[in-house]
Amino acid sequence: EWCEIDEIIKEAIKHIDEGLENKREIICEISNKELLVNVDFILIKQVLTNLLDNAMKYSKPDSRICIIVRNNEKQVEVSVRDWGLPIPPEDLEHIFDKFYRVRSPRQISGTGLGLAISKGIVELHGGKIQAENNSEIGGVTISFTIPLSKIPPRIPVEVGDDNE
Ligand code: ATP
Ligand code: MG
Repeated sequence: EWCEIDEIIKEAIKHIDEGLENKREIICEISNKELLVNVDFILIKQVLTNLLDNAMKYSKPDSRICIIVRNNEKQVEVSVRDWGLPIPPEDLEHIFDKFYRVRSPRQISGTGLGLAISKGIVELHGGKIQAENNSEIGGVTISFTIPLSKIPPRIPVEVGDDNE
């Protein structure tokens, strides 16, 4: 279905916030507000929810989270960046595997499925997902792309029967 990426982000943040007593500061940098994508709204929202959930789980409770949306004519890239701990380099290539969890001295619960599911959803849409450690600010950025190949529909013309 055609929807605005902005709407999906808003809904994902709303969903995340509903489960929290103390809301986290989530900053959005969006290149193009009315960016239309042809995706399954629920599934892409799920990907974003998974990434935001991780960003919150694996960083300090008072640190902020940033969502960055960039696009060119071919694709849109959505990144979720946190200011938490980096992922050890040897684990980076495995975190999208089913049930893979980085061994951590802290007790943070999880099943290791969030990123595997997210990868599946992104690939189903013809996109890619990747993780990298932030070089100077610390923390992790996980980004996914969605191709913008098809032409968006024209804005439907409202037809009213009462104003003829
Ligand atoms: P769940 O199935 O509940 O999401 P999970 O969070 O452990 O469990 P994934 O979301 O698949 O599983 O993440 C896999 C592993 O990657 C995590 O266990 C964690 O070690 C690491 N990871 C993921 N996101 C981040 C992040 N933003 N910062 C640091 N480590 C991360
Ligand atoms: Mg997770």
